[in-house]
Amino acid sequence: MLRMVLLYILSVLLAWMVGTASFSLAHTAAYRYPRQKKLLKEHFCCDECGTKLRALETVPVCSFLALRGRCRYCGERLSRRELFNELAGGVLALLLFFRFGNADTVAGPFQMSGALDIILHMSLMRLLTLLLLAVFFCLMDLVLLVDLDTMEIPNYFVILVLFAGVVSWFVLPGISILEHLIGGLCVSLPMLLLILAIPGSFGGGDMKLSAAVGLFLGWKLTVTGFLLGLLFGGLYGIYLLASKKKGKKEHFSFGPFLCTGYMLAVLCGMDIIGAYMKLFAMIRG
Ligand SMILES: [Zn+2]
Repeated sequence: MLRMVLLYILSVLLAWMVGTASFSLAHTAAYRYPRQKKLLKEHFCCDECGTKLRALETVPVCSFLALRGRCRYCGERLSRRELFNELAGGVLALLLFFRFGNADTVAGPFQMSGALDIILHMSLMRLLTLLLLAVFFCLMDLVLLVDLDTMEIPNYFVILVLFAGVVSWFVLPGISILEHLIGGLCVSLPMLLLILAIPGSFGGGDMKLSAAVGLFLGWKLTVTGFLLGLLFGGLYGIYLLASKKKGKKEHFSFGPFLCTGYMLAVLCGMDIIGAYMKLFAMIRG
């Protein structure tokens, strides 16, 4: 029993560390990609003064707190966004872990039958599912940050999502190949038609991203994620108009809302669909 508890605590810590570290890497990649700096070669140095950092100074979240938010060498303020992003990575990894790490709590897609496993008996497939979902979240974070900075979604990142999508056909349980294929079209095709009818209604990057995400998540979660993104983006648009920060004709990037919607769809998409179906049934009597 004690061994189980210790292992469980260890796994939770590991999930937190993987989450914060991978989102930290995504933040670095998002910062360096538009500046055409190499990601891996110079990962461990201060982006301001270029001083190489020691291993202990690169621990996500902890080193920020230990250094009180400033680079030890040049005194430059470390980015608050980076800290927030790392915290978000940790929290999302924990949510993924609690949601899909334990067979008893899983419902809908990703469900696996007959497994009684908290970590000790965690099957290889479950571990692969968790890892693949973590990679997906990491890619969404990367696209979100790059789109926020540049208002563009580079094709290169879409191809990475596409690649993860093809892997998902063999790893994610509970979603048929046909559902994955329909997912590739269910949001991207209407988007394409809308772009052709009203140029500038959506970005081409949003459309390509939605196609790749659809191949990954299948159509149910993709539609749910898109609607969530539309809701968040719409609310933000209303806020901008109300506070007169942007005029009616100006654009803001939709990608960050889309990525947030797709991540939320993974975490609670099936609950939302279930609640909607219940409501629908109730209305019909
Ligand atoms: Zn520095």
